[in-house]
Amino acid sequence: MILIDGKNTAADIKKEIQTEVAHWRQQGYRPPNLVAVLVGNDPASLTYVRSKERQAKQIGFNSSLIQLPFETTEQTLLNIISKLNHDTKVDGYIIQLPLPSHIDSQKVIMAIDPHKDVDGFHPLNLGKMLVGLPAFLPATPYGIIELIKRYDIPTDGKDVLIIGRSLIVGRPLSILLSQKRTGGNATVTLAHSHTKNLKHHSLKADIIITALGQPNFLKADMVKDGVVIIDAGINELAAPETKRGYRLVGDVDFKGVSLKASYITPVPGGVGPMTIAMLLKNTWKAYKLHFKLS
Ligand code: NDP
Repeated sequence: MILIDGKNTAADIKKEIQTEVAHWRQQGYRPPNLVAVLVGNDPASLTYVRSKERQAKQIGFNSSLIQLPFETTEQTLLNIISKLNHDTKVDGYIIQLPLPSHIDSQKVIMAIDPHKDVDGFHPLNLGKMLVGLPAFLPATPYGIIELIKRYDIPTDGKDVLIIGRSLIVGRPLSILLSQKRTGGNATVTLAHSHTKNLKHHSLKADIIITALGQPNFLKADMVKDGVVIIDAGINELAAPETKRGYRLVGDVDFKGVSLKASYITPVPGGVGPMTIAMLLKNTWKAYKLHFKLS
């Protein structure tokens, strides 16, 4: 069994970007600039955006957080988005989701300039991805594709089961893996809460990607020997003995499934770190497009 090390792979990707940033900085270009917008003070979201900001700075980006009160109106947020769209010193920005319920997330996403949409959630980027044009890919699916590529895991002709059809993970991934191209060409089944007899599908799958948000959902008796497992799930399980009071687990029962898998991602340290690395890669792409760098 090979453990797919997302932490190290993410570190490699960030190092590659850092080297390129240093090169262009020496040529006199300004640093890339990533902005995060957070509405409210949800502790998990705040930790996550702070981590993005810290990691961006580590590789030579400028990065800042615009934190707005929970009561912020939709119009105020749209005004801030308009300013970010027009600010030539901002290469990319993210609106941390979920937004408070009084704000229409879809309206907000539609207002983002697609050229600065480094989360890849704008329908223009999703549409470009669908037809196979260059686009900002949503960071988690992009990270999973990158892990598969860097670990030389063949997808051509393979049966892939993706569990979870959200717009930020499962659905884009199903498109990317079924596309007619190297790193695609898989036969993809996209499962969800209405799927009947999931075990029937999972026992046939050569590659299983879980993104459903159910701790330890996929058990050893649901997979075949030699299966490749990519676990995007991040779930908190109560653990009073730990300092935080909880521990993170994936959607896969790692202990049992790892005995049958040929490749498997751990949680934490698998898909999670890749998501931030790919967000930074998207920001770097936006910067290069802005300055027309190769
Ligand atoms: P959503 O809640 O948006 O989607 C969950 C999906 O799983 C839905 O399609 C749902 O089906 C499906 N589902 C739920 N229960 C079952 C079940 N019992 N059997 C089959 N399908 C089921 O979740 P997200 O996509 O936002 O997140 C999924 C997981 O991935 C979470 O643990 C989240 O924390 C994690 N995540 C990790 C990221 C990372 O950086 N590694 C980034 C984003 C998410 P239906 O559509 O029918 O409701």
